Amino acid sequence: MEVRSSTNCVLCNSREESVIHLFLHCVKVQKVWDKLMWWLGLNYIIPNNLFVHHECWSQVVPSKKLRNGFWIIWHAALWGIWKARDEVIFNNGAFELDEVWRILRCSRRFGA
Ligand SMILES: [Zn+2]
Repeated sequence: MEVRSSTNCVLCNSREESVIHLFLHCVKVQKVWDKLMWWLGLNYIIPNNLFVHHECWSQVVPSKKLRNGFWIIWHAALWGIWKARDEVIFNNGAFELDEVWRILRCSRRFGA
């Protein structure tokens, strides 16, 4: 296995990778959130903090049952992004929005 010398984000290679960048601000990842928000029929502004992002998801739905479904989708989004990152690093793959989307769509079965 080759050791990476760069600390740049493996998805966009334009910024240093951080949790906030990888999960929220990366231009590639923003397409995931954009598509997800479009799918859910929501508008949003990406916050500067992952915890605030999670809290925003808690506040958009009034019922506990629906909120639980949203949290599953939120966690599935993070999981899909992480899996896509792994694919790039360990399999020399490419970030595929459709693959992340497929993971998200599977999570819907477990949601509300
Ligand atoms: Zn990036």
